[in-house]
Amino acid sequence: MSASTARTCPKYAIGSGRIDRCGADGMNILVLNAGSSTLKFRLFRMEGNRPLTEPEEVTAGGQVDRIGKPDARLTVTAGPEARADAKSVKVGTIREAAREVIRHLTAVGTGDGQSPVIDAVGHRIVHGGPTFFEPALITDEIFAELQALTELAPLHNPAGLAGIEAVRSAMPAARNIAVFDTAFHHNLPKTAANYAIPADLAGKFHLRRYGFHGISYRYVVERLMAHLRGPAPGMRILVCHLGNGASACAVRDGVSVDTSMGFTPLEGLIMGTRCGDIDAGLVLHLLRHGQMSIEKVDELLNRKCGLLGLSGISGDVRDLEKAVSAGDAAAELALESFAYRVRKYIGAYAAALGGVDALVFTAGIGEHSASMRARICGALEFLGLNLDADRNSAAAGHDPVEIGATSAPGVWIVPTDEERQIAREVYALLG
Ligand code: ADP
Repeated sequence: MSASTARTCPKYAIGSGRIDRCGADGMNILVLNAGSSTLKFRLFRMEGNRPLTEPEEVTAGGQVDRIGKPDARLTVTAGPEARADAKSVKVGTIREAAREVIRHLTAVGTGDGQSPVIDAVGHRIVHGGPTFFEPALITDEIFAELQALTELAPLHNPAGLAGIEAVRSAMPAARNIAVFDTAFHHNLPKTAANYAIPADLAGKFHLRRYGFHGISYRYVVERLMAHLRGPAPGMRILVCHLGNGASACAVRDGVSVDTSMGFTPLEGLIMGTRCGDIDAGLVLHLLRHGQMSIEKVDELLNRKCGLLGLSGISGDVRDLEKAVSAGDAAAELALESFAYRVRKYIGAYAAALGGVDALVFTAGIGEHSASMRARICGALEFLGLNLDADRNSAAAGHDPVEIGATSAPGVWIVPTDEERQIAREVYALLG
């Protein structure tokens, strides 16, 4: 894996793969979004050149959750009435879960008497490393390169690769395309991408800020631009993707110029169970004096910190908001610390962009917690960012909603849709 092997994947992939059916006839594209114990999926019917404001048809969707537990369940929503069915499944791994989804979709179909031919499967792969920065058609060679990247993302990439393996064995005729969360940040300016460590060390171990949540950022930015019917040239958008994992991104002219997650998705904002920014010296101190192995510290920083660590209650904002209503001081401190960290990044990225034209909230917390949005925006008047309290508390739905008191700069909620973005990128590559 070196800079000399970096490639523009579509050209490479089309040159070496089987592209035998194009978008003129439309395509059924299955998207698999694999996490550590959940596999989300959606089957899209892609047709023609649709404007971004018109959503593609979803013929089935759902998830397998509690993978590896005795009460694992497959939930599928399909058919003209979007009926939801759930059943217990015996699946110990992501690979088995993906096979179960494929078995269900090919045997039971989409609830309208149809068992569609799945033309291609899009997979969310968290880390593309230094080589993958556009969607890639999976060949044996590309798959081996992705496996080698696991070293950079041991917690995140194996799930995506397991989905690819399942499709390759269960549906050998379908094309697999990997879409990367790091790709949107590939062209970060060097000053934002580098760490202040010796350049030879950075080169040898590929140490740089990669940034994540890029599939979501691309979707949200394009959705907002389509909604605004073309942005002004040079538009400065600051997006806060606040879910279980959380990050912020500074976007100018549709391009990422800085982002808060770094070499791994551990850096930056406070998250559900991840610490975000932390002094590297603190980690060294724990390793020297905390009687903790590297694995224990890894587990601590990724799974026991963040909102969960600060509150001692939960990493879920809904639980903490309830606890605050009941007067819990630790929950209040956790939520306020979360908001403070987001605000600090908004200030930093306003400086990086030289101002802000639009502040956007997205993902679970960003879309659904009016009180968290109010906490964050409460002290941003100095940037001209003011919330309209009524619009903020009433906001709901799938479309972008303006919640600011002024339109310039604007404050928006733009619901994200990573699966739809993956389907679009797969269709653009194959069609
Ligand atoms: P993921 O990173 O797993 O994709 P999501 O974007 O789905 O996460 O966000 C999940 C988080 O969103 C939950 O942990 C919870 O904190 C928050 N969340 C979801 N719904 C609400 C809600 N109605 N009010 C407050 N927070 C919410």
